[in-house]
Amino acid sequence: MRKQIAAANWKMNLTSAEASTLLNEIVAAPIQLKANQQAIFAVPAIYIPLAIEKLANHPQLLVAAQNCHQKTNGAYTGEISATMLASVGIKHIVLGHSERREYFAESDALLAEKVNAVLAIDSTPLFCCGEPLLIRESGKQNEFVEAQLINGLFHLSAAEIVKVVIAYEPIWAIGTGKTASSEQAQEIHAYIRSCLANKYGNDIAQEISILYGGSVKGANAKELFSQPDVDGGLVGGASLVATEFEAIINALK
Ligand code: PEP
Repeated sequence: MRKQIAAANWKMNLTSAEASTLLNEIVAAPIQLKANQQAIFAVPAIYIPLAIEKLANHPQLLVAAQNCHQKTNGAYTGEISATMLASVGIKHIVLGHSERREYFAESDALLAEKVNAVLAIDSTPLFCCGEPLLIRESGKQNEFVEAQLINGLFHLSAAEIVKVVIAYEPIWAIGTGKTASSEQAQEIHAYIRSCLANKYGNDIAQEISILYGGSVKGANAKELFSQPDVDGGLVGGASLVATEFEAIINALK
């Protein structure tokens, strides 16, 4: 059975004191996770040790990084490698968020290298894909997202792809308050799964979690997550409010 996941993306938000308070509120919240469910917190890198310490007694509350460098080590000032992240206990790394693609010019080819780096240290890439508004308006979102999958992920073997979590995030819905309808989300998630099935076979496609991201809140999470191919969410703004994220976690199926 594939995992149902609520992933928080804190982005470049919160002071250390605020991060500490939010984590305290999360661990104190009445969160109920079934065996197939996880909550993952992609915190700013500087707060990873703090988050690991705060969530230490909660095996289904995991800490992730928001990015990594594609190389293992070397003269890359200011960068952090997947190997370094693994050495402090990180097992999940978000890759290819649309903000990284847009503001840091991350290409599919670079992301393919990063995916390899994360898998090489036996961690899980949370691989983001999703189309901008103009592509959605032209009705070409399936082709756009399929190309991101082909170029960023489909060099992987079947044994490797099952370790990946995919997050579909339409750029027009990120941080805008606009959410894809549950029908729109289901339609493209089913398309993503059909691409996985065509490349790797249906059994493998059924094992891969596909999260939806784009203005998920406590109020819309249940409806979105009830769709058969939506396996949870990647959540920005609402993950900064403990009660909101708690409601999102509790909306997992
Ligand atoms: C995100 O950052 O991945 C995201 C989906 O943000 P928001 O939930 O704020 O739209």
